[in-house]
Amino acid sequence: METPARLTVDLGRLREGRPERLQGSLPASLLEIDDLEQLRPAGPLAYDLEVTLLPGGEALARGTLRLPCQCVCRRCGRDFLAEFSEEDFCETLQIEGQITWDLTESAREGIILVLPSYPICGEGCKGVCPHCGKNLNEGPCGCAADGDSPWGALDGWAPQGE
Ligand SMILES: [Zn+2]
Ligand SMILES: [Zn+2]
Repeated sequence: METPARLTVDLGRLREGRPERLQGSLPASLLEIDDLEQLRPAGPLAYDLEVTLLPGGEALARGTLRLPCQCVCRRCGRDFLAEFSEEDFCETLQIEGQITWDLTESAREGIILVLPSYPICGEGCKGVCPHCGKNLNEGPCGCAADGDSPWGALDGWAPQGE
């Protein structure tokens, strides 16, 4: 068994006015988000943070979190890969004798907040036809193009054969 990686800051290294860059990744297994059926992590959670010691003994961690996910489009059912990111992750800690600052749980919560509960493969996804079930991203189906018009059904109708 591998010991799970944690995202920790060595507070002893922090000096006021000298931000520490913290880059790396956490195994996706740590996120425990396998219970979302429309979405599962397709790689580690990558972080790129800058940790600063503020006057008054406060530490500030700020930066980005990124997580690639394999998703199922809620409109058309297609599998697609997407990267979700928290561009303005921000956490503070009042230092009161701690040696390390464990940001693992904050990072986990931060990325979960930006994961969509309704993933869509693209803004332009046309979904599936409610009548025949055809994926409309692959082309129009034979059903009415305009459901509101009484003549809509005729627009899609064409004589068969030559
Ligand atoms: Zn779609
Ligand atoms: Zn149709």
